[in-house]
Amino acid sequence: MKVILIGPPGSGKGTQAKRLAAKLGVPHISTGDMLREAVADGTELGLKAAPIMKSGGLVSDDLILGIVQDRFAKPDMEKGYILDGFPRTLVQAEGLDKIVGNDGERLRVTELLVPDDAIVRRITLRRTCPSCGAIYHLENQPPATDSVCDRCGAEVIARADDTEEAVRKRLDAFHRDTVPVTDYYKSKSVLREVDGIGPIDEVFERIEQSLS
Ligand code: AMP
Repeated sequence: MKVILIGPPGSGKGTQAKRLAAKLGVPHISTGDMLREAVADGTELGLKAAPIMKSGGLVSDDLILGIVQDRFAKPDMEKGYILDGFPRTLVQAEGLDKIVGNDGERLRVTELLVPDDAIVRRITLRRTCPSCGAIYHLENQPPATDSVCDRCGAEVIARADDTEEAVRKRLDAFHRDTVPVTDYYKSKSVLREVDGIGPIDEVFERIEQSLS
């Protein structure tokens, strides 16, 4: 199963992509997670990406295609994958076609639809675990104990780019850059649209149905 999950920041695609990857037994490839790891490790890529990510802008297509190409070279990608947060621009979508070659025909693309106002509310209440990557929501899915990750016990925090100002900027970037990507997949008749509003389990079922 080779899947691209598209959706605005805060549409729940990270949560759903993780779940889908676990259920299908394929890697979950999140360029956002890869970049955050590079930032935490203080690599050259991390140093370049950190200020852009913090302001809510997009990291350059060259850098992103470079890390994705490296990841695709690993053998675990052969059985399938869930791509999350990539491709985000038309250049990246075309770059992906080159990386996957003929496999491009078997890509399934699902877009989660969530209105902007719902996203701003969701993201400012989002908390993540810097240690294991678990994602929480202070209203809908809070950790059992205040600010403590259920899974690993680390303190859960708001991501540096989860402020309202940065969220609005990321939504603008999404509408500007990613709509051409969805149009690209629409023109190839591989795009499925899924309502991203509702309980996580229900949205997950809708995503699974979109892939069947
Ligand atoms: P995400 O976790 O997918 O919301 O990504 C967090 C941030 O990482 C984004 O706001 C961008 O700054 C950067 N980023 C992640 N994936 C990409 C991508 N495919 N292209 C450009 N920038 C990206």
